[in-house]
Amino acid sequence: MRTAVVVGAGMAGLAAAGALARDDWQVTLLERGERVAAPPTALVLWPNGRRALDALDPDGGWSSIAAPLPDGGVRRPDGQFLVAPHTRPGAGPAPAVVHLEDLYDALVAGLNDHVEIRTGVEITKVRAHRGSRPAVGDGRVFYEADLIVAADGIDSAVRHALAPEAVVVGSGFAAWQAVVPRYRAPDLPPDQAAGGETLGAGYRFVSMPLGERAAGKGGIYWVATAAGAPRPEPAATQLALLRRWFAAWHPPVGELLAATRPEDLVPQEVRELRPLPRAYGFRCGSGGVVLLGDAAHAMPHHLGQGACLAFEDVATLRSLVATASPGAELGQAVEDYDRARRPRTASVVRQTRRMSAVVQARGRLALRARNAALGSLRPRILGHAHGHTADWQPPE
Ligand SMILES: Cc1cc2nc3c(=O)[nH]c(=O)nc-3n(C[C@H](O)[C@H](O)[C@H](O)COP(=O)(O)OP(=O)(O)OC[C@H]3O[C@@H](n4cnc5c(N)ncnc54)[C@H](O)[C@@H]3O)c2cc1C
Repeated sequence: MRTAVVVGAGMAGLAAAGALARDDWQVTLLERGERVAAPPTALVLWPNGRRALDALDPDGGWSSIAAPLPDGGVRRPDGQFLVAPHTRPGAGPAPAVVHLEDLYDALVAGLNDHVEIRTGVEITKVRAHRGSRPAVGDGRVFYEADLIVAADGIDSAVRHALAPEAVVVGSGFAAWQAVVPRYRAPDLPPDQAAGGETLGAGYRFVSMPLGERAAGKGGIYWVATAAGAPRPEPAATQLALLRRWFAAWHPPVGELLAATRPEDLVPQEVRELRPLPRAYGFRCGSGGVVLLGDAAHAMPHHLGQGACLAFEDVATLRSLVATASPGAELGQAVEDYDRARRPRTASVVRQTRRMSAVVQARGRLALRARNAALGSLRPRILGHAHGHTADWQPPE
């Protein structure tokens, strides 16, 4: 039986372990945490991400955990529309919002008994020499396999060993996410209940309703972004700061922040890889090592594509290795994976960087230029970014 070691049990690692195991690989899934746990937030699955998940597991029940994402448009802090809401084109799956607890549960449900999960294992060493089987180790044990899948996130130890040129840098933003459960959420009129995006001077606020039963409690997900470094203060102080920064913004921004509790808040620095790794696939032994998800292409969240791209990575990898035997075939598949995924992810990273400039605009002149441009640029920057990016189709 072909063997794989997957490093990291985040979204990318769980999806990879499940997909390989369903194709009869024997998989060892290594996670440094003491358990596999979802952050208490949500994310948008764009059509490309939904297609990838459907390709990975048509019986995954993805539609039942994802709520359609209404288009609330893009506003200024005073509530005026920079880009009015519009009806999305009908073809293909619609963007949807999913609570991460539900997404992780669905991914874990897709693991069969070909997957052995080992938690509390932090990989620190990588062996990827031409002549020997690839392996990763935690300083005590080496785990060998035909294929090593590095899904260990932005600070990937595997990438650090194989592609040290890709350095993690701050993107110049801090982000805060929270889910306000339904029983505490403000009662919003229909035009506000759809959520939407608001752009201020170096600040951004996005909100969206979750499905009625999301994570068993429903509610509203929001994410705030501010240019600058992450805050060192305790959560309660950070929440007070957010309430002050966004105090004059149109409803329901203030209402959502008022309903949020410090324990709901997930603050983090926005970081990215610069440059991207020179390769996502490293052929060796009977197969090789591949990087996927944030380990390969961590980027700021402005287009909300990180997880969607991770699922694309997995769907592509799975199709390439589906019938590959360990040896020359699997080695070739590892190289093909690199060729298939690097141009695609580099293009999304380029679009994300253009969005960073839009979000970061500060100062009267820069803002005026941005606001004037946004309406006409919508089809070209935002629409194109989502349209082109979301157009991806899984391999046959
Ligand atoms: C504010 C914000 C909003 C976002 N919104 C969206 C969105 O709407 N849509 C979207 O598609 N994406 C979005 N993203 C991006 C998305 O969250 C990430 O791209 C995604 O979580 C990456 O998943 P991953 O599995 O690659 O990495 P991670 O989630 O970081 O998982 C890595 C796993 O590996 C484990 N690990 C790490 N190192 C080791 C080691 N050495 N040994 C063993 N285990 C290890 C970790 O404990 C973890 O479990 C957003 C990101 C942010 C910050």
